[in-house]
Amino acid sequence: MGLVVMKFGGSSVANAEKIKNVARRVIQTRDKGNRVVVVVSAPGDTTDDLITMAEGITPEPDPREMDMLLATGEQISIALLGMAIKDKGCKAISLTGAQVGILTDNTHSNAKVKHIPTDKIRKELKRGNIVIVAGFQGVTENEDITTLGRGGSDLTAVALASVLKADVCEIFTDVMGVYTTDPRVVPEARKLDTISYDEMLEMAGLGAQVMQARSIEVAKKFNIDIHVRSTFSEAEGTFITREVQKMEDVVVRGIASDKNQAKISIIDLPDKPGEAARMFKDLADKHINVDMIIQSSASDGRNDISFTVGHKDLSKTLEVMERIRRELGAKDVIHDSNVAKVSIVGVGMRSHVGVAAKMFSALAREGINIEMISTSEIKISCVIKNTQVDKAVKAIHRVFNLDKKK
Ligand code: ADP
Ligand code: ASP
Ligand code: MG
Repeated sequence: MGLVVMKFGGSSVANAEKIKNVARRVIQTRDKGNRVVVVVSAPGDTTDDLITMAEGITPEPDPREMDMLLATGEQISIALLGMAIKDKGCKAISLTGAQVGILTDNTHSNAKVKHIPTDKIRKELKRGNIVIVAGFQGVTENEDITTLGRGGSDLTAVALASVLKADVCEIFTDVMGVYTTDPRVVPEARKLDTISYDEMLEMAGLGAQVMQARSIEVAKKFNIDIHVRSTFSEAEGTFITREVQKMEDVVVRGIASDKNQAKISIIDLPDKPGEAARMFKDLADKHINVDMIIQSSASDGRNDISFTVGHKDLSKTLEVMERIRRELGAKDVIHDSNVAKVSIVGVGMRSHVGVAAKMFSALAREGINIEMISTSEIKISCVIKNTQVDKAVKAIHRVFNLDKKK
């Protein structure tokens, strides 16, 4: 008898019909002789709606109370799914993160999982229950409720699969698997049969919403095979697995884009040792995550530095940069919130040449200007105007023949 972790995202539990469908699928897996642990997200847009509700009270909600609020979304789903499964004559029990004992640190809204005891879940499985766990939430040593970052139910599922030594971790969503790029943006996008942890990690970090990046880090660390598949179809989806040699034959596995970017430039800054260190330390102290950085070559002992941050950090970043401008005697701080990042990802880039040139030429042919570039061993990212992203993704998809099965 196997142990299966099945995670259903928000769109899979968005209404009563969908919840009944999830109950049917879960029971089907149980009827094949498996013990089943189910993880669910909040229904539909509930998490976004809860955030809007909080913003109606205050622009800066208290982090502890915010997590208390956001965790209620998943609690709706576990209760409704519990009812649906029991209504079909099967035994089930719903548990919050705190009831399972998912222990986290106290970084509200982005907590790290420290420990997951398995005794409670195992006891309920032994009693013949399908165990339904609320995704996205945990509890601190002080019994404060925490959440695990947006998309965090993926992390709950992978972490549970790891501690329970599950045979498989299935992530059910509203598309057939992981595609070469977002199939809602590019209809020619092709479903991938497999993708390596490193490729999925890059894709997720660069904007592919289908999996939460942190969940892939955990999967890689503990070698958990993940099967991403559709809630609404029986077809096989995509396996996220350890890298095998032949994966390098494919140069570009996929394309990701992120429209939530802003570019900030500090102009005419004295070119002295320690200035950049000082600036990025001040930003880090405010927990601002800086992504790409470029520095122009100095002339007359002065230069410009540009970098990108996520939209949500823009106003905080501008406050820090204005202070730095005054203190260091720079001329100006300018920003552009209409930029986006488009990236190609593939382990094959390690062993193939000319990949960047091909990407840049595809953009040039579409008249798209590249404002910044960054590369790593398995990815190339470009900052461009955000109005041109969809056109860029389509052009790059075409030039690397991603619509064709390799
Ligand atoms: P869930 O509610 O199941 O967690 P998400 O909305 O978080 O689902 O993720 C699924 C969505 O991710 C898809 O509807 C799709 O639009 C988007 N997506 C972005 N990039 C990709 C990709 N490369 N492959 C598949 N889906 C992608
Ligand atoms: N409901 C949470 C979110 O919307 C967690 C999740 O869906 O995985 O981010
Ligand atoms: Mg998700």
